[in-house]
Amino acid sequence: MPGFADNTVLERTSRAGSLVAGTVLDLLLPPRCVCCQARVSLPGNLCGVCWREMPFIGAPVCARYGTPFTHDIGEGGLSARALTDPPLFERLRSVATYQGIARDLVLALKFNRRRDLAEPMGRWMVHAGRELISPDTVVMPVPLHRLRLLQRRFNQSADLARVIAREASIDWDPMLLRRARRTRQQVGLDSSERQKNVRGAFELRQGWSNTLHGRPVLLVDDVLTTGSTVTACTKVLKAAGASSVDVLTFAIAVGDEAHD
Ligand SMILES: [Zn+2]
Repeated sequence: MPGFADNTVLERTSRAGSLVAGTVLDLLLPPRCVCCQARVSLPGNLCGVCWREMPFIGAPVCARYGTPFTHDIGEGGLSARALTDPPLFERLRSVATYQGIARDLVLALKFNRRRDLAEPMGRWMVHAGRELISPDTVVMPVPLHRLRLLQRRFNQSADLARVIAREASIDWDPMLLRRARRTRQQVGLDSSERQKNVRGAFELRQGWSNTLHGRPVLLVDDVLTTGSTVTACTKVLKAAGASSVDVLTFAIAVGDEAHD
């Protein structure tokens, strides 16, 4: 398809140009806030205003779902959801609730090709998920189907997983888990429709499952809404012998956003 080929060339040229320009500018210009472009003292950071507006999740949180409590109910406290609907994975931790600046960053990384955002977002995720990380943990991104990967050209969750593995000095494997079939976008589906949509959607690449046996897995995604995607992945990873599966996302939808 000639149009596609032309676009690809243009795309590569402009991206290569901005990369070079970015490198030179990084040396010449003062660093900017990754969100609003205000001046900051260190590159790859938020300015004071954006930092204050970021809906960071702080202790106390539900021991399983990592959702914030309004008051401290003690070590290992569980939310009502964790008691009535315990997750298949062990623990979930997230940097922020999916609103405001956190939502802007997730959407910019995914749709505006701001792949540079994976660096600060991944570093914040290591901090938020530090209790989930041990020296033998394997980090894995929630995979995209290969056709969607072709459309988008990158998997934002794999970008985050790469930064997390590097910062925490642990293994990562972006290839082992794959989407066996293409699924509908989860947006607009209710909880049971989402579960049905992703049932059987994931599998391990043949012949590779031995690498997982007895090891703890940290599953990485950009945002968690109902959790049906990471639950489907967890089933596959546990069946393959992972000793535990924890989930680390940049953002978690709470309240109305959970059904977005
Ligand atoms: Zn800012």
